[in-house]
Amino acid sequence: AESSPSNFIRQIIEEDNRVGKWNGRVETRFPPEPNGYLHIGHAKSICLNFGIAHDYGGVCHLRFDDTNPEKEAQEYVDSICDSVSWLGFDWGQHLYYSSDYFNQLYEFAEYLISCGKAYVESLSADEIRELRGTLTNPGINSPFRNRSSAESLDLFRRMKAGEFPEGQYVLRAKIDMASPNINMRDPVIYRIRHVHHQRTGKQWCIYPMYDYTHCISDALERITHSLCTLEFEDHRPLYDWVLDQLADKVPCHPQQIEFARLNLTYTVMSKRKLIELVESKLIDGWDDPRLSTLAGVRRRGFTPRAIRLFAERIGISKADSWIDMGVLEDCLREDLNENAPRRIAILRPVKLIIDNYPEDQQEDCFAPNHPQKPDWGKRTIPFSRTLYIERDDFMEVPTKGYFRLSPGTEVRLRYAFIIKCVQVDKNAQGDIETIHCIYDPDTKSGTSGAESRKVKGNIHWLSVKHSRAAEIRLYDRLFTDPYPDRGDKDYKSSLNPDSKEIITGYVEPSLCEAMSEQIFQFERTGYFIADRIDMKPGKPVFNRAVTLRDSWGK
Ligand code: ATP
Ligand code: MG
Ligand code: MG
Repeated sequence: AESSPSNFIRQIIEEDNRVGKWNGRVETRFPPEPNGYLHIGHAKSICLNFGIAHDYGGVCHLRFDDTNPEKEAQEYVDSICDSVSWLGFDWGQHLYYSSDYFNQLYEFAEYLISCGKAYVESLSADEIRELRGTLTNPGINSPFRNRSSAESLDLFRRMKAGEFPEGQYVLRAKIDMASPNINMRDPVIYRIRHVHHQRTGKQWCIYPMYDYTHCISDALERITHSLCTLEFEDHRPLYDWVLDQLADKVPCHPQQIEFARLNLTYTVMSKRKLIELVESKLIDGWDDPRLSTLAGVRRRGFTPRAIRLFAERIGISKADSWIDMGVLEDCLREDLNENAPRRIAILRPVKLIIDNYPEDQQEDCFAPNHPQKPDWGKRTIPFSRTLYIERDDFMEVPTKGYFRLSPGTEVRLRYAFIIKCVQVDKNAQGDIETIHCIYDPDTKSGTSGAESRKVKGNIHWLSVKHSRAAEIRLYDRLFTDPYPDRGDKDYKSSLNPDSKEIITGYVEPSLCEAMSEQIFQFERTGYFIADRIDMKPGKPVFNRAVTLRDSWGK
Protein backbone atom coordinates (compact mmCIF):
# COMPACT_ATOMS: atom_id res chain seq x y z
CA ALA A 1 0.00 0.00 0.00
CA GLU A 2 1.15 3.54 -0.70
CA SER A 3 1.91 5.51 2.42
CA SER A 4 0.36 8.94 2.65
CA PRO A 5 2.70 11.91 2.44
CA SER A 6 4.08 12.95 5.78
CA ASN A 7 3.71 16.70 5.34
CA PHE A 8 1.83 19.32 3.34
CA ILE A 9 4.77 19.99 1.01
CA ARG A 10 4.95 16.34 0.00
CA GLN A 11 1.19 16.47 -0.55
CA ILE A 12 1.66 19.36 -2.97
CA ILE A 13 4.42 17.50 -4.80
CA GLU A 14 2.41 14.33 -5.10
CA GLU A 15 -0.56 16.27 -6.40
CA ASP A 16 1.70 18.04 -8.93
CA ASN A 17 3.01 14.65 -10.00
CA ARG A 18 -0.51 13.28 -10.29
CA VAL A 19 -1.64 16.06 -12.63
CA GLY A 20 1.71 16.08 -14.45
CA LYS A 21 2.50 19.71 -13.62
CA TRP A 22 6.27 19.26 -13.86
CA ASN A 23 6.22 16.04 -15.86
CA GLY A 24 7.20 14.21 -12.72
CA ARG A 25 10.29 16.32 -12.23
CA VAL A 26 11.17 17.33 -8.67
CA GLU A 27 14.02 19.76 -8.21
CA THR A 28 14.73 21.58 -4.94
CA ARG A 29 17.57 23.69 -3.62
CA PHE A 30 19.19 24.62 -0.36
CA PRO A 31 20.29 28.27 -0.72
CA PRO A 32 22.50 29.46 2.15
CA GLU A 33 24.12 32.84 2.17
CA PRO A 34 27.84 32.26 2.85
CA ASN A 35 27.90 34.78 5.69
CA GLY A 36 28.23 32.41 8.63
CA TYR A 37 28.29 28.77 9.64
CA LEU A 38 25.21 26.59 9.29
CA HIS A 39 23.17 25.84 12.39
CA ILE A 40 20.67 23.24 13.41
CA GLY A 41 17.86 25.33 11.91
CA HIS A 42 19.52 25.04 8.53
CA ALA A 43 19.67 21.29 9.08
CA LYS A 44 15.88 21.26 9.07
CA SER A 45 15.87 22.91 5.66
CA ILE A 46 18.67 20.67 4.35
CA CYS A 47 16.90 17.49 5.44
CA LEU A 48 13.67 18.76 3.92
CA ASN A 49 15.10 19.77 0.55
CA PHE A 50 17.52 16.88 0.07
CA GLY A 51 15.05 14.43 1.58
CA ILE A 52 12.29 15.40 -0.86
CA ALA A 53 14.62 15.31 -3.86
CA HIS A 54 15.82 11.88 -2.80
CA ASP A 55 12.38 10.43 -2.16
CA TYR A 56 10.87 11.66 -5.42
CA GLY A 57 13.81 10.75 -7.61
CA GLY A 58 14.86 14.34 -8.13
CA VAL A 59 17.92 16.40 -7.32
CA CYS A 60 18.66 19.06 -4.76
CA HIS A 61 20.98 21.93 -5.59
CA LEU A 62 23.37 23.54 -3.19
CA ARG A 63 23.29 27.21 -4.12
CA PHE A 64 25.31 29.91 -2.45
CA ASP A 65 23.25 33.04 -2.34
CA ASP A 66 26.24 35.34 -2.56
CA THR A 67 24.95 38.80 -3.35
CA ASN A 68 26.19 40.66 -0.23
CA PRO A 69 29.96 40.62 -0.72
CA GLU A 70 30.67 42.68 2.42
CA LYS A 71 29.54 39.90 4.70
CA GLU A 72 30.52 36.82 2.75
CA ALA A 73 33.70 34.78 2.68
CA GLN A 74 35.22 31.61 1.27
CA GLU A 75 35.67 30.27 4.82
CA TYR A 76 31.88 30.15 5.09
CA VAL A 77 31.48 28.49 1.71
CA ASP A 78 33.90 25.76 2.78
CA SER A 79 32.27 25.19 6.15
CA ILE A 80 28.80 25.03 4.58
CA CYS A 81 29.93 22.39 2.05
CA ASP A 82 31.51 20.45 4.90
CA SER A 83 28.39 20.54 7.03
CA VAL A 84 26.02 19.51 4.24
CA SER A 85 28.16 16.50 3.34
CA TRP A 86 28.68 15.64 6.98
CA LEU A 87 24.89 15.50 7.39
CA GLY A 88 24.96 12.85 4.69
CA PHE A 89 23.72 14.73 1.64
CA ASP A 90 25.29 14.91 -1.79
CA TRP A 91 24.61 17.71 -4.25
CA GLY A 92 26.58 15.90 -6.95
CA GLN A 93 27.13 18.23 -9.92
CA HIS A 94 24.56 20.67 -8.63
CA LEU A 95 26.67 23.30 -6.95
CA TYR A 96 25.69 26.85 -7.91
CA TYR A 97 26.31 30.43 -6.94
CA SER A 98 23.91 33.31 -7.44
CA SER A 99 26.93 35.25 -8.63
CA ASP A 100 27.06 32.88 -11.64
CA TYR A 101 23.94 34.71 -12.80
CA PHE A 102 25.15 38.29 -12.40
CA ASN A 103 25.27 38.79 -16.17
CA GLN A 104 21.82 37.39 -16.74
CA LEU A 105 20.38 39.25 -13.78
CA TYR A 106 21.81 42.43 -15.25
CA GLU A 107 20.38 41.72 -18.72
CA PHE A 108 16.97 41.05 -17.21
CA ALA A 109 17.14 44.31 -15.27
CA GLU A 110 17.83 46.22 -18.51
CA TYR A 111 14.90 44.39 -20.05
CA LEU A 112 12.61 45.41 -17.16
CA ILE A 113 13.72 49.02 -17.57
CA SER A 114 13.05 48.91 -21.28
CA CYS A 115 9.52 47.56 -20.66
CA GLY A 116 8.81 50.32 -18.14
CA LYS A 117 8.86 47.82 -15.25
CA ALA A 118 11.86 49.27 -13.46
CA TYR A 119 13.37 52.73 -13.01
CA VAL A 120 16.44 54.35 -11.60
CA GLU A 121 15.71 56.15 -8.34
CA SER A 122 17.58 59.27 -7.23
CA LEU A 123 16.11 59.53 -3.73
CA SER A 124 18.22 58.55 -0.75
CA ALA A 125 17.52 55.42 1.27
CA ASP A 126 15.87 57.54 3.97
CA GLU A 127 13.65 59.32 1.48
CA ILE A 128 12.64 56.03 -0.08
CA ARG A 129 11.68 54.68 3.32
CA GLU A 130 9.76 57.85 4.08
CA LEU A 131 7.65 57.61 0.91
CA ARG A 132 7.09 53.88 1.21
CA GLY A 133 4.27 54.40 3.71
CA THR A 134 3.20 52.01 6.43
CA LEU A 135 0.83 49.11 6.89
CA THR A 136 -2.02 51.55 7.36
CA ASN A 137 -0.89 54.25 4.90
CA PRO A 138 -0.26 53.72 1.22
CA GLY A 139 3.09 54.80 -0.19
CA ILE A 140 3.65 57.87 -2.31
CA ASN A 141 5.08 57.75 -5.81
CA SER A 142 8.64 58.96 -6.11
CA PRO A 143 9.14 61.99 -8.33
CA PHE A 144 11.53 59.78 -10.34
CA ARG A 145 9.01 57.03 -10.93
CA ASN A 146 8.17 58.34 -14.36
CA ARG A 147 11.71 58.82 -15.51
CA SER A 148 11.86 57.67 -19.12
CA SER A 149 13.14 54.20 -19.92
CA ALA A 150 15.91 55.73 -21.97
CA GLU A 151 17.12 57.88 -19.11
CA SER A 152 16.89 55.02 -16.58
CA LEU A 153 18.76 52.75 -18.94
CA ASP A 154 21.51 55.30 -19.39
CA LEU A 155 21.83 55.82 -15.63
CA PHE A 156 21.74 52.09 -14.92
CA ARG A 157 24.57 51.49 -17.40
CA ARG A 158 26.57 54.24 -15.79
CA MET A 159 25.87 52.74 -12.34
CA LYS A 160 27.35 49.52 -13.65
CA ALA A 161 30.30 51.40 -15.17
CA GLY A 162 31.20 52.73 -11.74
CA GLU A 163 30.46 56.41 -12.39
CA PHE A 164 28.56 56.96 -9.14
CA PRO A 165 29.26 56.62 -5.45
CA GLU A 166 27.30 54.18 -3.29
CA GLY A 167 23.80 55.36 -2.47
CA GLN A 168 23.50 57.89 -5.26
CA TYR A 169 21.12 55.75 -7.28
CA VAL A 170 19.28 52.46 -6.94
CA LEU A 171 17.17 50.52 -9.38
CA ARG A 172 13.57 49.92 -8.33
CA ALA A 173 10.91 47.61 -9.70
CA LYS A 174 7.84 49.59 -10.76
CA ILE A 175 4.93 47.75 -9.19
CA ASP A 176 2.39 49.47 -6.96
CA MET A 177 3.04 52.09 -4.27
CA ALA A 178 -0.49 51.58 -2.92
CA SER A 179 -0.22 47.84 -2.53
CA PRO A 180 -1.28 46.58 0.90
CA ASN A 181 1.88 44.47 0.74
CA ILE A 182 4.81 46.77 1.43
CA ASN A 183 7.19 44.44 -0.41
CA MET A 184 5.33 45.37 -3.60
CA ARG A 185 5.83 49.12 -3.19
CA ASP A 186 8.53 49.50 -5.82
CA PRO A 187 11.19 47.42 -4.07
CA VAL A 188 14.84 48.20 -4.67
CA ILE A 189 16.35 45.51 -6.90
CA TYR A 190 19.91 46.81 -7.46
CA ARG A 191 22.25 48.94 -5.42
CA ILE A 192 25.75 50.32 -5.86
CA ARG A 193 28.48 48.72 -3.74
CA HIS A 194 32.10 49.42 -4.49
CA VAL A 195 33.33 46.25 -2.87
CA HIS A 196 35.35 43.26 -3.94
CA HIS A 197 33.31 40.09 -4.35
CA GLN A 198 34.87 36.81 -3.26
CA ARG A 199 34.12 35.23 -6.65
CA THR A 200 33.66 38.01 -9.19
CA GLY A 201 36.37 40.25 -7.79
CA LYS A 202 36.15 43.81 -9.05
CA GLN A 203 33.96 42.97 -12.04
CA TRP A 204 30.81 44.45 -10.51
CA CYS A 205 30.03 47.51 -8.47
CA ILE A 206 26.27 47.02 -8.57
CA TYR A 207 24.72 44.04 -6.84
CA PRO A 208 21.20 42.62 -7.14
CA MET A 209 18.94 42.35 -4.08
CA TYR A 210 17.83 39.06 -2.57
CA ASP A 211 14.18 39.15 -3.70
CA TYR A 212 15.15 39.84 -7.28
CA THR A 213 17.99 37.35 -7.36
CA HIS A 214 16.41 34.42 -5.62
CA CYS A 215 13.42 33.82 -7.87
CA ILE A 216 15.48 34.25 -11.04
CA SER A 217 18.17 31.87 -9.77
CA ASP A 218 15.48 29.31 -8.97
CA ALA A 219 13.96 29.69 -12.42
CA LEU A 220 17.28 29.49 -14.28
CA GLU A 221 18.11 26.28 -12.42
CA ARG A 222 14.66 24.93 -13.27
CA ILE A 223 13.77 24.42 -9.62
CA THR A 224 10.24 23.07 -9.30
CA HIS A 225 9.51 23.67 -5.60
CA SER A 226 11.29 26.52 -3.85
CA LEU A 227 10.94 25.86 -0.12
CA CYS A 228 11.59 28.66 2.30
CA THR A 229 10.69 29.76 5.79
CA LEU A 230 7.50 31.60 6.72
CA GLU A 231 8.97 35.07 6.88
CA PHE A 232 9.10 34.97 3.08
CA GLU A 233 5.38 34.40 2.75
CA ASP A 234 4.68 38.03 1.98
CA HIS A 235 7.61 38.15 -0.41
CA ARG A 236 5.93 35.53 -2.56
CA PRO A 237 3.90 38.06 -4.59
CA LEU A 238 7.20 39.74 -5.49
CA TYR A 239 8.78 36.39 -6.36
CA ASP A 240 5.87 35.72 -8.70
CA TRP A 241 5.77 39.26 -10.10
CA VAL A 242 9.42 39.17 -11.16
CA LEU A 243 9.03 35.79 -12.84
CA ASP A 244 5.81 36.87 -14.52
CA GLN A 245 7.61 39.84 -16.10
CA LEU A 246 10.35 37.50 -17.31
CA ALA A 247 8.04 34.69 -18.40
CA ASP A 248 9.49 34.71 -21.94
CA LYS A 249 13.07 34.79 -20.71
CA VAL A 250 13.34 32.09 -18.04
CA PRO A 251 12.75 28.35 -18.47
CA CYS A 252 10.09 27.94 -15.78
CA HIS A 253 8.22 29.51 -12.88
CA PRO A 254 8.99 27.58 -9.68
CA GLN A 255 6.45 27.44 -6.88
CA GLN A 256 7.52 29.05 -3.62
CA ILE A 257 6.21 27.18 -0.58
CA GLU A 258 6.77 28.37 2.98
CA PHE A 259 7.20 26.29 6.12
CA ALA A 260 7.82 27.13 9.78
CA ARG A 261 11.41 27.66 10.80
CA LEU A 262 12.93 25.72 13.63
CA ASN A 263 13.12 27.50 16.97
CA LEU A 264 15.04 25.54 19.58
CA THR A 265 15.10 26.31 23.31
CA TYR A 266 18.29 27.09 25.25
CA THR A 267 20.18 28.31 22.21
CA VAL A 268 20.41 31.14 19.70
CA MET A 269 20.49 30.59 15.97
CA SER A 270 20.57 33.97 14.30
CA LYS A 271 23.80 34.41 12.41
CA ARG A 272 24.26 37.88 13.81
CA LYS A 273 24.22 36.53 17.36
CA LEU A 274 26.41 33.56 16.51
CA ILE A 275 28.96 35.92 14.97
CA GLU A 276 28.74 38.12 18.05
CA LEU A 277 29.40 35.16 20.37
CA VAL A 278 32.37 34.05 18.27
CA GLU A 279 33.90 37.51 17.93
CA SER A 280 33.42 38.43 21.57
CA LYS A 281 35.30 35.22 22.53
CA LEU A 282 32.52 34.31 24.95
CA ILE A 283 32.78 30.86 23.40
CA ASP A 284 35.63 29.02 21.69
CA GLY A 285 34.89 29.68 18.02
CA TRP A 286 32.35 28.52 15.44
CA ASP A 287 32.81 24.89 16.39
CA ASP A 288 32.48 25.37 20.13
CA PRO A 289 30.64 22.21 21.24
CA ARG A 290 28.05 24.32 23.06
CA LEU A 291 26.90 26.15 19.94
CA SER A 292 23.96 25.23 17.75
CA THR A 293 26.18 25.43 14.66
CA LEU A 294 26.54 22.16 12.80
CA ALA A 295 30.30 22.43 13.29
CA GLY A 296 29.59 22.82 17.02
CA VAL A 297 27.13 19.99 17.46
CA ARG A 298 29.43 17.76 15.41
CA ARG A 299 32.28 18.47 17.78
CA ARG A 300 29.95 17.95 20.70
CA GLY A 301 29.18 14.43 19.55
CA PHE A 302 25.88 14.77 17.74
CA THR A 303 25.67 12.36 14.84
CA PRO A 304 24.23 13.04 11.39
CA ARG A 305 21.82 10.19 12.04
CA ALA A 306 20.51 11.81 15.23
CA ILE A 307 20.02 15.13 13.46
CA ARG A 308 18.19 13.53 10.56
CA LEU A 309 16.00 11.65 13.04
CA PHE A 310 15.31 14.95 14.79
CA ALA A 311 14.32 16.65 11.53
CA GLU A 312 11.96 13.80 10.77
CA ARG A 313 10.48 13.80 14.25
CA ILE A 314 9.73 17.52 14.45
CA GLY A 315 8.15 17.41 11.00
CA ILE A 316 7.19 20.26 8.70
CA SER A 317 4.27 22.56 9.30
CA LYS A 318 2.99 26.04 8.63
CA ALA A 319 2.80 27.07 12.28
CA ASP A 320 5.73 28.58 14.14
CA SER A 321 6.58 26.80 17.36
CA TRP A 322 9.40 26.11 19.79
CA ILE A 323 11.02 22.73 20.03
CA ASP A 324 12.56 21.76 23.32
CA MET A 325 16.29 21.06 23.30
CA GLY A 326 15.42 17.82 25.09
CA VAL A 327 13.87 16.51 21.87
CA LEU A 328 17.17 16.90 20.03
CA GLU A 329 19.10 15.35 22.91
CA ASP A 330 16.70 12.41 23.03
CA CYS A 331 17.28 11.76 19.33
CA LEU A 332 20.99 11.57 20.05
CA ARG A 333 20.44 9.21 23.00
CA GLU A 334 18.28 7.03 20.81
CA ASP A 335 20.96 6.79 18.14
CA LEU A 336 23.85 6.27 20.52
CA ASN A 337 22.09 3.83 22.79
CA GLU A 338 21.80 1.66 19.71
CA ASN A 339 25.17 2.40 18.13
CA ALA A 340 27.77 3.46 20.67
CA PRO A 341 30.10 0.83 22.15
CA ARG A 342 30.25 0.77 25.95
CA ARG A 343 33.38 1.68 27.86
CA ILE A 344 34.24 2.57 31.43
CA ALA A 345 35.50 5.93 32.61
CA ILE A 346 35.74 7.33 36.09
CA LEU A 347 35.12 11.04 35.95
CA ARG A 348 35.54 12.07 39.58
CA PRO A 349 37.68 9.36 41.13
CA VAL A 350 38.15 8.21 44.67
CA LYS A 351 40.47 5.32 45.59
CA LEU A 352 39.11 2.05 46.85
CA ILE A 353 41.34 -0.69 48.29
CA ILE A 354 40.23 -4.30 48.55
CA ASP A 355 41.97 -5.22 51.79
CA ASN A 356 41.64 -8.99 51.34
CA TYR A 357 42.84 -9.01 47.71
CA PRO A 358 46.56 -9.78 47.39
CA GLU A 359 48.81 -6.87 46.44
CA ASP A 360 50.62 -8.65 43.62
CA GLN A 361 47.56 -10.29 42.11
CA GLN A 362 45.38 -9.30 39.16
CA GLU A 363 42.75 -11.03 37.07
CA ASP A 364 40.56 -10.42 34.06
CA CYS A 365 36.94 -9.43 34.12
CA PHE A 366 34.83 -9.36 30.96
CA ALA A 367 32.49 -6.59 29.87
CA PRO A 368 30.16 -6.69 26.88
CA ASN A 369 30.78 -3.99 24.26
CA HIS A 370 27.02 -3.60 23.94
CA PRO A 371 24.51 -5.16 26.34
CA GLN A 372 21.97 -5.94 23.58
CA LYS A 373 24.49 -6.96 20.93
CA PRO A 374 26.35 -10.13 21.88
CA ASP A 375 27.99 -10.17 18.44
CA TRP A 376 29.92 -7.04 19.38
CA GLY A 377 31.84 -9.26 21.77
CA LYS A 378 33.39 -8.61 25.16
CA ARG A 379 36.54 -6.92 26.25
CA THR A 380 38.86 -7.53 29.15
CA ILE A 381 38.89 -5.25 32.17
CA PRO A 382 41.75 -6.03 34.54
CA PHE A 383 40.90 -6.19 38.24
CA SER A 384 43.39 -5.56 41.03
CA ARG A 385 43.61 -4.54 44.67
CA THR A 386 43.47 -0.76 44.14
CA LEU A 387 40.59 0.69 42.17
CA TYR A 388 38.97 3.97 41.24
CA ILE A 389 35.27 4.43 41.71
CA GLU A 390 33.14 7.55 41.29
CA ARG A 391 33.03 9.77 44.35
CA ASP A 392 29.26 9.90 43.91
CA ASP A 393 29.01 6.16 44.34
CA PHE A 394 30.03 6.42 47.97
CA MET A 395 28.15 8.16 50.75
CA GLU A 396 29.42 8.07 54.29
CA VAL A 397 25.98 8.76 55.72
CA PRO A 398 23.58 7.43 53.10
CA THR A 399 20.33 9.24 52.47
CA LYS A 400 17.11 7.29 52.23
CA GLY A 401 16.98 5.25 49.03
CA TYR A 402 20.74 5.44 48.42
CA PHE A 403 21.78 1.94 47.36
CA ARG A 404 25.35 2.49 46.38
CA LEU A 405 28.36 2.08 48.64
CA SER A 406 28.40 3.22 52.27
CA PRO A 407 30.02 1.94 55.44
CA GLY A 408 28.85 -1.57 56.22
CA THR A 409 26.85 -2.02 53.00
CA GLU A 410 27.51 -4.25 50.03
CA VAL A 411 27.46 -3.46 46.34
CA ARG A 412 28.49 -5.28 43.21
CA LEU A 413 31.47 -4.00 41.29
CA ARG A 414 30.03 -4.40 37.82
CA TYR A 415 31.55 -7.38 35.92
CA ALA A 416 33.47 -8.32 39.10
CA PHE A 417 32.76 -9.06 42.75
CA ILE A 418 30.50 -8.11 45.59
CA ILE A 419 32.35 -5.88 48.03
CA LYS A 420 31.60 -4.52 51.48
CA CYS A 421 32.90 -1.24 52.86
CA VAL A 422 34.80 -1.67 56.11
CA GLN A 423 36.58 1.62 56.67
CA VAL A 424 37.26 5.10 55.24
CA ASP A 425 40.47 7.10 55.50
CA LYS A 426 40.28 10.88 55.52
CA ASN A 427 42.84 13.62 55.19
CA ALA A 428 43.37 16.46 57.67
CA GLN A 429 40.53 18.46 56.07
CA GLY A 430 38.13 15.59 56.56
CA ASP A 431 37.90 14.67 52.85
CA ILE A 432 37.71 10.99 52.04
CA GLU A 433 40.99 9.77 50.58
CA THR A 434 40.58 6.02 50.49
CA ILE A 435 37.72 3.62 50.95
CA HIS A 436 38.59 0.19 52.30
CA CYS A 437 36.53 -2.84 51.37
CA ILE A 438 36.67 -6.58 51.48
CA TYR A 439 35.50 -8.69 48.54
CA ASP A 440 33.77 -12.03 48.38
CA PRO A 441 35.82 -14.21 45.97
CA ASP A 442 32.84 -16.50 45.32
CA THR A 443 30.70 -13.82 43.70
CA LYS A 444 32.53 -13.04 40.47
CA SER A 445 30.21 -12.06 37.61
CA GLY A 446 29.89 -14.79 35.03
CA THR A 447 30.67 -17.57 37.52
CA SER A 448 28.17 -19.88 39.16
CA GLY A 449 28.52 -18.05 42.47
CA ALA A 450 27.54 -14.69 40.99
CA GLU A 451 23.85 -15.16 41.68
CA SER A 452 24.27 -16.55 45.18
CA ARG A 453 23.66 -13.24 46.87
CA LYS A 454 21.61 -10.25 45.65
CA VAL A 455 22.73 -6.69 46.29
CA LYS A 456 20.95 -3.52 45.23
CA GLY A 457 23.88 -1.37 44.16
CA ASN A 458 25.95 -1.98 41.05
CA ILE A 459 28.81 0.43 40.43
CA HIS A 460 31.58 0.78 37.87
CA TRP A 461 35.31 0.89 38.62
CA LEU A 462 38.73 0.78 37.04
CA SER A 463 41.96 -0.71 38.31
CA VAL A 464 44.23 2.22 39.16
CA LYS A 465 47.36 0.75 37.66
CA HIS A 466 45.56 -0.27 34.45
CA SER A 467 43.72 2.98 33.83
CA ARG A 468 44.87 6.05 31.94
CA ALA A 469 44.26 9.72 32.61
CA ALA A 470 42.11 11.56 30.08
CA GLU A 471 41.02 15.15 29.62
CA ILE A 472 37.26 15.18 29.82
CA ARG A 473 35.20 18.19 28.83
CA LEU A 474 31.80 18.33 30.42
CA TYR A 475 29.51 20.50 28.37
CA ASP A 476 26.10 21.70 29.30
CA ARG A 477 23.55 24.01 27.73
CA LEU A 478 24.95 27.39 26.77
CA PHE A 479 22.01 29.35 28.18
CA THR A 480 20.00 29.03 31.36
CA ASP A 481 16.94 30.67 29.80
CA PRO A 482 14.91 28.48 27.44
CA TYR A 483 14.22 31.55 25.27
CA PRO A 484 17.47 33.51 25.50
CA ASP A 485 16.62 35.91 22.67
CA ARG A 486 12.86 36.09 22.72
CA GLY A 487 11.40 39.59 22.66
CA ASP A 488 14.04 42.22 23.32
CA LYS A 489 16.01 40.21 25.88
CA ASP A 490 19.78 40.46 25.89
CA TYR A 491 20.68 36.84 25.26
CA LYS A 492 24.17 37.35 26.70
CA SER A 493 22.68 37.93 30.13
CA SER A 494 21.53 34.32 30.37
CA LEU A 495 24.77 32.61 29.39
CA ASN A 496 25.22 29.54 31.59
CA PRO A 497 28.42 30.06 33.60
CA ASP A 498 28.67 26.29 34.12
CA SER A 499 28.33 25.28 30.50
CA LYS A 500 31.90 23.99 30.29
CA GLU A 501 34.01 22.20 32.85
CA ILE A 502 37.32 20.48 32.12
CA ILE A 503 38.33 17.62 34.37
CA THR A 504 40.88 14.82 34.42
CA GLY A 505 39.22 11.44 34.56
CA TYR A 506 40.43 7.87 34.14
CA VAL A 507 39.60 5.60 31.25
CA GLU A 508 40.19 2.08 30.01
CA PRO A 509 43.59 1.95 28.27
CA SER A 510 42.04 1.15 24.87
CA LEU A 511 40.39 4.57 24.89
CA CYS A 512 43.81 6.17 24.51
CA GLU A 513 43.85 4.74 21.01
CA ALA A 514 40.31 5.82 20.08
CA MET A 515 40.05 7.48 16.70
CA SER A 516 39.03 11.08 16.67
CA GLU A 517 35.23 11.37 16.48
CA GLN A 518 34.65 7.87 17.82
CA ILE A 519 31.72 7.96 20.23
CA PHE A 520 31.24 5.78 23.29
CA GLN A 521 28.82 5.33 26.08
CA PHE A 522 30.78 5.71 29.29
CA GLU A 523 28.71 3.38 31.41
CA ARG A 524 26.36 5.05 33.88
CA THR A 525 27.74 8.46 32.89
CA GLY A 526 26.85 9.56 29.39
CA TYR A 527 27.91 9.61 25.76
CA PHE A 528 31.36 10.94 24.93
CA ILE A 529 33.16 11.67 21.68
CA ALA A 530 36.91 11.68 21.11
CA ASP A 531 37.50 15.32 20.25
CA ARG A 532 38.05 15.66 16.52
CA ILE A 533 40.75 18.30 16.90
CA ASP A 534 42.52 17.69 20.22
CA MET A 535 42.43 13.88 20.54
CA LYS A 536 45.98 12.55 20.11
CA PRO A 537 47.18 8.96 20.46
CA GLY A 538 48.19 8.47 24.09
CA LYS A 539 46.67 11.84 25.04
CA PRO A 540 42.95 11.27 25.05
CA VAL A 541 40.42 14.11 25.07
CA PHE A 542 36.72 13.38 25.30
CA ASN A 543 33.72 15.70 25.08
CA ARG A 544 30.47 14.84 26.77
CA ALA A 545 27.78 14.92 24.11
CA VAL A 546 24.86 14.21 26.41
CA THR A 547 24.14 12.57 29.73
CA LEU A 548 22.29 9.25 29.81
CA ARG A 549 19.06 10.79 30.93
CA ASP A 550 17.66 14.27 30.77
CA SER A 551 18.59 15.71 34.13
CA TRP A 552 18.57 19.35 33.08
CA GLY A 553 17.05 21.61 35.71
CA LYS A 554 16.17 18.70 37.98
P1 ATP B 1 19.80 33.93 9.72
O1 ATP B 1 18.41 34.39 9.98
O2 ATP B 1 20.43 33.27 10.89
O3 ATP B 1 20.65 34.96 9.09
P2 ATP B 1 19.15 32.90 7.19
O4 ATP B 1 17.82 32.29 7.07
O5 ATP B 1 19.30 34.27 6.69
O6 ATP B 1 19.65 32.75 8.68
P3 ATP B 1 20.36 31.57 5.03
O7 ATP B 1 21.77 31.25 4.80
O8 ATP B 1 19.72 32.54 4.11
O9 ATP B 1 20.25 32.02 6.52
O10 ATP B 1 19.49 30.24 5.09
C1 ATP B 1 19.51 29.25 4.11
C2 ATP B 1 18.24 28.47 4.16
O11 ATP B 1 18.07 27.89 5.44
C3 ATP B 1 17.04 29.35 3.91
O12 ATP B 1 16.22 28.70 2.96
C4 ATP B 1 16.38 29.47 5.23
O13 ATP B 1 15.01 29.61 5.10
C5 ATP B 1 16.77 28.16 5.92
N1 ATP B 1 16.80 28.36 7.37
C6 ATP B 1 17.52 29.24 8.07
N2 ATP B 1 17.24 29.19 9.38
C7 ATP B 1 16.30 28.22 9.52
C8 ATP B 1 15.58 27.68 10.63
N3 ATP B 1 15.76 28.13 11.88
N4 ATP B 1 14.69 26.69 10.40
C9 ATP B 1 14.49 26.23 9.16
N5 ATP B 1 15.13 26.69 8.06
C10 ATP B 1 16.02 27.68 8.23
MG1 MG C 1 18.83 34.45 4.20
MG1 MG D 1 20.08 36.17 7.23
